[in-house]
Amino acid sequence: MKKLLSLSLTALALVSFGVQANDFPNKDKPITLVVPFTAGGPTDRVARDLSEAMRKATGANFVVDNVVGAGGTIGANKVAKAAPDGYTLLLHHIGMATSPALYRKMPYDTLNDFEYLGLINEVPMTLIGRPTLPANNFKELATWIAQNKGTVNLGNAGLGAASHLCGLLFQSAIKIDMTTVPYKGTAPAMNDLMGGQIDLLCDQTTNTTSQIEAKSVKAFAVTTTKRLTTPALKDLPTLNEAGLKGFEVSIWHGLYAPKGTPADVVAKLNKALQASLKDPEFIKKQQGLGAVVITDKRVEGAEHKKFVASEIAKWGPIIKEAGTYAD
Ligand code: ASP
Repeated sequence: MKKLLSLSLTALALVSFGVQANDFPNKDKPITLVVPFTAGGPTDRVARDLSEAMRKATGANFVVDNVVGAGGTIGANKVAKAAPDGYTLLLHHIGMATSPALYRKMPYDTLNDFEYLGLINEVPMTLIGRPTLPANNFKELATWIAQNKGTVNLGNAGLGAASHLCGLLFQSAIKIDMTTVPYKGTAPAMNDLMGGQIDLLCDQTTNTTSQIEAKSVKAFAVTTTKRLTTPALKDLPTLNEAGLKGFEVSIWHGLYAPKGTPADVVAKLNKALQASLKDPEFIKKQQGLGAVVITDKRVEGAEHKKFVASEIAKWGPIIKEAGTYAD
């Protein structure tokens, strides 16, 4: 009798969470994947490719929801406050680790308000310019920026975004301030760059490779310390070798659930993520865009969390020194 009572109490506890872990995922209930930037941009691109692989791994439908603004913190906050039932997830990039230093006040606690489901990929950035820019390599670009001090503008996806971080470090490295033009994602920034409304943009190769190939934008350098092997990008110098010693920004994407999501649901999502990262179709799509799919232990939630903590510790002082933050 006592045993029966405790069993039904456990069942009640699960029901009150709205989740029967054994039944997760309910194939009739879509899983919402929140992307904190606009559709058609690089984070969105990773989310759409991953959704397809996760659908194959779980049998559940995934719906991408672009919850944009404030450099990704609005979307991340929505997931931090969502029901912890596994049906609302967040796909976010390095902004998870840089926002705490870029914002004076954060609406959520990065390390304590999420369940960490695993890291997805690493993606280099490229420094690109409008097609009409009168410079054809990094040296000419540096001269043009120096000659046009005060009028050069640089797009980004808002304070806290990866493009903001990259632009901040770039201005600090060349010691010239530019006018930054914030968007809600780098998809609209890319449109304005191609149309000549802005001069420069730093963006993930997942968004820039096809535009570079099509010559819709000019590419000047990559932000990693090693040159890339993707055919369209392999001739680009690194910013480090172009003279900005020590310059390095590599973007990563990870998957998160709200804190308190039941352990069995977290385990199932992690298993599905790991299967997706081995999906040949997903790997091929990512490689074609210059991204490297994670194969090391950071596919485990605990290691993912440790990694984000180390990134918070790494970027805090660098951002303070570069000197920009928002309220
Ligand atoms: N690439 C963007 C950034 O700068 C975000 C996006 O639009 O996906 O963070």
